Amino acid sequence: MRPLVAGNWKMNGLASSLKELDALKAALLAAPAAAEVLICPPFTLIAPAALRVDRAFALGGQDCHAKPSGAHTGDIAAEMLKDSGASYVIVGHSERRHNHGEGDGDVAAKALAAWRAGLTAIICIGETEDQRGAGDAHYVCSHQIDGSVPSAATPANTVLAYEPVWAIGTGKTPTADEIVQMHAYLRACLVRRLGTGAHALRILYGGSVKPDNAGEILHLPEVNGALVGGASIKSDDFLRIIRAV
Ligand code: PEP
Repeated sequence: MRPLVAGNWKMNGLASSLKELDALKAALLAAPAAAEVLICPPFTLIAPAALRVDRAFALGGQDCHAKPSGAHTGDIAAEMLKDSGASYVIVGHSERRHNHGEGDGDVAAKALAAWRAGLTAIICIGETEDQRGAGDAHYVCSHQIDGSVPSAATPANTVLAYEPVWAIGTGKTPTADEIVQMHAYLRACLVRRLGTGAHALRILYGGSVKPDNAGEILHLPEVNGALVGGASIKSDDFLRIIRAV
């Protein structure tokens, strides 16, 4: 299974930021990565990025609507992302779940929309600090898998991203043992839900992955890559994470 290192730029990036992608492209062409590389910039930069990147790495959206078109002011359809040059879309990021009230049913509908448009869905799950403190982290994540991952998910159309909410943007990470335990548990949940084919479905870790901790995290069992926020915006930092694979 080829690991995936995905960058989520969130609501960051103007046209001037495209130079970071030029630098990333040049570095990857000079020395190809062991991992598959993906950048999810803001919607406004996908089309111009696609022209410059020319498939040196993949591009994705950070969210999509469940419907292909219609009266949904301010939303974006998976088909529009595909049309702009995306091949992936993140759905169910905790910032969408919390800031926009998206529940598991919404996330599953967005994953179906991604597939309909020919995109691979990166479905995010993860517990809050309170839930972990209460000893509910496994229960919460298994429940989110059951509700957010449609039963037709395959290794080709879906990636799972485990992102403990308390680790996102905080500089805190679970211990290596905690990541190993959780990823093994998530693998078992996926196999129970989808069958043995789910052994090949990539499970990413996300939450304060940085150049200095990427080497340890990316080599843990059942960690098949990373979803990186803050450290994906500067190409130098992101490259150091990519090269840690
Ligand atoms: C994220 O937003 O998906 C994320 C993991 O952010 P950060 O790497 O900044 O914690």
